[in-house]
Amino acid sequence: MVDFGADSVLVVIDPIDGSMNAKRGLTHHALSIAVADGPTMADVQFGYVFDLGPGEEWRAELGGGALLDDQPVRPQPQRRTADGKLELIAIESADPRWLAASSDALCDVAHRVRAMGSIAISLCQVAETRVDGMATLWKSRAVDCAAAQLIVRESGGLVRFTGMEHPLGAPLDLEPRAPVVAARTPEAPEELAGLPATQAGTMER
Ligand SMILES: [Mg+2]
Repeated sequence: MVDFGADSVLVVIDPIDGSMNAKRGLTHHALSIAVADGPTMADVQFGYVFDLGPGEEWRAELGGGALLDDQPVRPQPQRRTADGKLELIAIESADPRWLAASSDALCDVAHRVRAMGSIAISLCQVAETRVDGMATLWKSRAVDCAAAQLIVRESGGLVRFTGMEHPLGAPLDLEPRAPVVAARTPEAPEELAGLPATQAGTMER
């Protein structure tokens, strides 16, 4: 969080989301910047995510659509397998304990999973339906998702912070607040909302 001297503007910055990837030479790590005019995810007006691995620049302005490298994003139809599972989903907060706690729910919902190691980047993949949905398995922090959640929404996708009264009600502060799920059809976020271990009350940190 950066104080620019005005109460009406809040800038939420993660200089490197996916810092473990960056340290270890793995591909995905990103600069994430969000600008908001209020205290929650719903108030984010501008989002910018630069994935330093492939060099992809994602950005969105509220009401203005989402762009990838200056071109409008091109979401593809969501894919499901014949038995109704989402074909490919991204998961984050992939602590093995939380993965274990979510494993039955994952079997029910997803055909295959990917764990890229950056919440911001995983969310952005939903904007072009490179994955059919994403979920964090534990509470997310605003710095990791404030920008990318707007990019998903402006691509026509759906985002929900589970356990909050309002789906976009997660505050723009520094605490881990709520798991985030994102997908492209109205049913899918409901299915994904069952994944985070914290929802089931199975684990405390
Ligand atoms: Mg981060």
